[in-house]
Amino acid sequence: MENYEIITKLPTPCYVIDEAALVKNLEILQSVEQKTGCHVLLAQKAFSSYCIYPLIAKYISGTTASGIFEARLAHEEMKNKQIHVFSPAYKDNDFNELLEICDHIVFNSFSQWKHFRDKAKKHIDVEFGLRINPEYSEIETDIYNPCFANSRLGITLDNFEENELEGISGLHFHTMCEQGAETLERTIKVVEEKFGKYLYRMKWLNFGGGHHITKPDYHVDLLVDIINYLKKKYDLQIYIEPGEAVAIDAGFLVTTVLDLTENGMKLAIVDTSAACHMPDVLEMPYRPYIIGSEMPGVLPYTYRLGGPTCLAGDIIGDYSFNNELAVGDKLIFTDMAMYTIVKNNTFNGMPLPSIYQLKTDGSTELIKEFGYEDFKRRL
Ligand SMILES: *Cc1c(COP(=O)(O)O)cnc(C)c1O
Repeated sequence: MENYEIITKLPTPCYVIDEAALVKNLEILQSVEQKTGCHVLLAQKAFSSYCIYPLIAKYISGTTASGIFEARLAHEEMKNKQIHVFSPAYKDNDFNELLEICDHIVFNSFSQWKHFRDKAKKHIDVEFGLRINPEYSEIETDIYNPCFANSRLGITLDNFEENELEGISGLHFHTMCEQGAETLERTIKVVEEKFGKYLYRMKWLNFGGGHHITKPDYHVDLLVDIINYLKKKYDLQIYIEPGEAVAIDAGFLVTTVLDLTENGMKLAIVDTSAACHMPDVLEMPYRPYIIGSEMPGVLPYTYRLGGPTCLAGDIIGDYSFNNELAVGDKLIFTDMAMYTIVKNNTFNGMPLPSIYQLKTDGSTELIKEFGYEDFKRRL
């Protein structure tokens, strides 16, 4: 594709946010709002590149924040849109500020709710909710499963204090990760069984994130049916706060081959690091796709790609190519907008990749560049 040509000309390493791909995702999310009257909120945790917030604001209802900084970012950069916040625990000072800039605040426990309740009740323009833990999830990786044993996230039915609900207008659950509407359907069944009697007393229910809505095989119609069913049965407003689904497949990370060596196999060192620039490759773990590559052994030349840090495990993965790699070659990783830029770090004194925007007209614009001072300031 011609766009790839343009982005291989950019100085590396760099992230390139793909505006057209974002719009495609946002149109799907907007259609869910339009078919149900629900509100879709960007989970900023996944993607906070606020240069794009004005575009996002044209399609969905607002954002959700994990704490004061994300809430402030939304307040400054996505004006006149909803701002929700959930944090496992709020600090007193942060809470005062959150009351001024958020319209929905979700608590993780009854003790937090009781701690802030008096202050909260003075703000009649803010709605307050509780995160529940339905103790049902289909996530197999513990680090991403809020329902694993002894989880600190959300209130279980055993710990639910039904006499303390005055002032609470909604419930929130977040128990999914990259999953389909079928998982949501099964989750809702459990939420209803356990917490259904409280839903009649609520104004809203928030489905959290983890919904793979913009993936081609996602059953958007089933999601629409579930939302409409709940709205009608309990007279609820529904919120859904995808992160990944907003920015999935909406960006690239471009890197340059720095050196080629051998040790039992061909090795390539590139100017981007798994540990610093795509930590989910090591955390999840997962294998990012490189344009023009295949699984090892499929095409004639297989390489193990690694970053320029001194971490032995800074390995991006094994890839095969049609041609031998050469020093100076550019490689393009796909799906690099979400959970990448927000997770960047300068471990090993690694530079932060610059950020470009690939516009719908095919041109690129430099959004941010970083240098030595950005590394030094944090230390
Ligand atoms: C992480 C998170 C989200 C977004 O999750 P995605 O998997 O990116 O859709 C939404 N809400 C809460 C509370 C979260 O912790």
